Amino acid sequence: MIQTLLLACYELGHQPLSLAWPLAFLREEGMAVTAVDLSLSPFPQAAAKEADLVAIAVPMHTALRLGVQAAEQVRVVNPAAHICFYGMYAWLNRDYLLAGIADSVIGGEYEEPLAGLVEGLSEGEGFDKFSQQVPGVTTAYQESIPHIARLQFPVPDRRDLPALDQYARYMHNGSTKLAGYVEASRGCLHTCRHCPVVPVYNGRFFIIPAATVLADIRQQVAAGAGHISFGDPDFLNGPGHALKLARALHAEFPGLTFDFTTKVEHILKHRDLFPEFRRLGCSFVISAFESTSDRVLARLQKGHTVADMEAVLPILANAGIHVQPTWVPFTPWTTLNDYIEMLAWIRARSLIQHVPIVQLSVRLLVPPQSALLNHPDVADWLGPLDAANFTYLWPHADERMDRLQQEVAYLAEHGSDDPYEAFAAVEKLAYEMDGRSPPPQPLLTLYQPAPPRLTEDWFC
Ligand code: SF4
Repeated sequence: MIQTLLLACYELGHQPLSLAWPLAFLREEGMAVTAVDLSLSPFPQAAAKEADLVAIAVPMHTALRLGVQAAEQVRVVNPAAHICFYGMYAWLNRDYLLAGIADSVIGGEYEEPLAGLVEGLSEGEGFDKFSQQVPGVTTAYQESIPHIARLQFPVPDRRDLPALDQYARYMHNGSTKLAGYVEASRGCLHTCRHCPVVPVYNGRFFIIPAATVLADIRQQVAAGAGHISFGDPDFLNGPGHALKLARALHAEFPGLTFDFTTKVEHILKHRDLFPEFRRLGCSFVISAFESTSDRVLARLQKGHTVADMEAVLPILANAGIHVQPTWVPFTPWTTLNDYIEMLAWIRARSLIQHVPIVQLSVRLLVPPQSALLNHPDVADWLGPLDAANFTYLWPHADERMDRLQQEVAYLAEHGSDDPYEAFAAVEKLAYEMDGRSPPPQPLLTLYQPAPPRLTEDWFC
């Protein structure tokens, strides 16, 4: 039996499901596997040296950057280990990874291919990597499409992971509680052009059985969680499933709060569900607003307009649910005036505390395989692929926007912790870049109570 080591690098401050699920799948098959979350633990020298297979979870761009560094450390202590990258960003960046640091990559529903890879490698000499194909596993010799299939999900195995008190917490009204993280579905029904889910799932999504999700919630509540984040790409792709889960969660744990991510279109379409979600414990919703320019929203194929964004605010407010809008403020199509209008929109709707400054610095990522690359005018704005940074470059036609992005990113890291001061600093930068002064703000309406949030800000 070979030894498998799973590594996760960064997952927005929550306990990585990208470790807990493969741990459960592989252990169910009787495979020898351990896991380390490098966001909290030092690089495991001894385990890496012993491992025959090191599999690195890369569900997001930041995780991939850190994952490559981890793989380089593995190569130093154990040059013979098979290194596999799995998750969304692995498949998108497979050419770069397979040309250097990786022996294989897995995209889509990765647990079954990972188990297949362990089986194949367990054959030792009997496994010929040049000619033998493990379904769902891409190597330099064998191309495989992402594994898009309905899996039989066991309950995630969280026993080896750091305790919940080491991860991001839920914070509201001056107090905090431990936060758990589950997923009730994978993939997405929608095909927003800039989204990394799209090249992998292409409009498909899979529901995780409610009993499995509830068992995972139960074990995290037993570990101290007082709040649960549903981290599905979009919780309301399956509204009946979402409601069933929320009702069951509340029936068993009436004091538990939760949050979920859903798109503007779904909030409008399922507006009648929100008062019940609130009664069941929903505290806030993350929603990808992206831009206050209809031109940019159409380009991203978001399926909503600025008027729709206006319409969802009272739906959520009347239900008593807070919103955390997320943004892609820097795209090749966003002008300086668009950026300033977005700031004014946020301020006018008293959403300053709902938008962490890092959100105002997000620059559109165009990874290999992105649906944005299929647009007919791509040659007009796209630069070369920066493979080592996993994105195509796209210098903005207005160089002030590139400068502004860098300066806002600096502020997000080094600026004031006070959301109003930080926001005002971004306004000053943007207006001054445009040769203007920010408009004076009425002092009396400035300060609002802080909305509920997690202590780790969302970005990608
Ligand atoms: S709705 Fe969200 S997850 Fe789905 S394709 Fe659009 S951006 Fe991606």
